Amino acid sequence: MNFKTVIGLEIHVQLFTKSKIFCNCSTAFGSEPNIQTCPVCLGLPGTLPVLNEESLNLALKVAVALNCEIAEKIKFDRKNYFYPDLPKGYQISQFDMPLAKNGELYIISSTDKSLKKVGITRTHLEEDAGKLLHKEGNYSLVDFNRTGVPLLEIVTEPDINSPEEAYDFLSRLKSILKYLEVSDCNMEEGSLRCDANISVQPEDSDKKGVKSEIKNMNSFKGVRDALQYESDRQIKQIKKGDRVVQETRLWDETEKVTMPMRSKEEAHDYRYFPEPDLVYFEISKDKIDEIKSVMPELPDKRKKRFIEKFNIPEYDAAILTSERSIADFFDACALKINDYKLISNWIMGQLMEILNEKKIKLSELAISIEHFVELLKMVSGNKINSSIAKDVFTEMVESKKSPGRIVEEKGLAQISNEDELQSIVENVVKSNQKSVDDYKSGRKNALMYLVGQVMRETKGKANPKIVNEMLRGVLEK
Ligand SMILES: [Zn+2]
Repeated sequence: MNFKTVIGLEIHVQLFTKSKIFCNCSTAFGSEPNIQTCPVCLGLPGTLPVLNEESLNLALKVAVALNCEIAEKIKFDRKNYFYPDLPKGYQISQFDMPLAKNGELYIISSTDKSLKKVGITRTHLEEDAGKLLHKEGNYSLVDFNRTGVPLLEIVTEPDINSPEEAYDFLSRLKSILKYLEVSDCNMEEGSLRCDANISVQPEDSDKKGVKSEIKNMNSFKGVRDALQYESDRQIKQIKKGDRVVQETRLWDETEKVTMPMRSKEEAHDYRYFPEPDLVYFEISKDKIDEIKSVMPELPDKRKKRFIEKFNIPEYDAAILTSERSIADFFDACALKINDYKLISNWIMGQLMEILNEKKIKLSELAISIEHFVELLKMVSGNKINSSIAKDVFTEMVESKKSPGRIVEEKGLAQISNEDELQSIVENVVKSNQKSVDDYKSGRKNALMYLVGQVMRETKGKANPKIVNEMLRGVLEK
């Protein structure tokens, strides 16, 4: 029997505001524990929450980007549960009147590689809880700095049918969130968290399987691995004739298994009720128009434009637009030089390589668009060959000097002058008789060796194309 996997995701995104959602405390990460707190976020009696407007603005940007229906009126509710890192005994969230509903995000189907829609059920604002640090010796410490940091919860429809699709969804969502500059999406620091609901059912049946909820995944790869494990586990269970139980399971990253945590709670267990300290908020059409007017061009649209306008391959366009800073860099270069494929090759090659190697962002790399373009113009104008250009690039990053200056200081300009190359070519031919004989007896790749010798003699500065032609001229005389 073949099985179908059905997955829905629940994502929590920490919004990039300076202060918390209902008070003025800072949201900075990594401070000394419990210094970013006040009576409001500590839940002391007699305090009143006030909504941070910026958190609403950022949440609206996401709702617009995900093509959601945005509510005209929203309400906050108390979600009651006891937890040591939740000093109020309830979390302010949204229950029946969320910020937005019925959105969509397109991913690549893992079965036929076509575009596939994943519905966004809802997205709403809520406050984060604190952080528990479990210590050896059976005690825990609590840090309330995170209590009250604004979170945007995004819930998808169960439209995802494989761990790969879940991975693709998360990657695309992250790319959009970063384009919108609403979150740094750092999973290690907890600013993007993902839980997943997963069930399996026979492929030819409409009857839904029993789902489990997986928590504690700390990377996109972790999500993919946990879902694969869980899908396999449920299928095995059914094949054995056992029942799958509805429960919450924890992913164990070291053991690569999911473990039962507790039976799953239902919405009614939380006894939601309207937050009496906050009014209803109306979201005007003007407000939404204002948000729309400052929306950046999002990754999918930008990718399409790159393909159409710059005539570069889809593969290049996808890589170049996956991050906004890289796409901006490409756009800026394209205004100054029109060899678009050359720009693309250099960004995807040298530039991204150095970013990966140094594990830094483009903004942290000391290279200006002017210098980068100057280097590309030297390559396309045959002033330097591409192997020298790579060395010049490395030097540019280290010294911040312009490529022109580096080439001049180090005497790296390409030698394309045949008179200058003539004697070197003749010498190489004279002193490599064996390769010359090989070439003449039909081993054409002996030519490569001879070109290499000329390149060595000129310390890599000769124009390889011209050397190639000259050698052939001499050999075929
Ligand atoms: Zn506070």
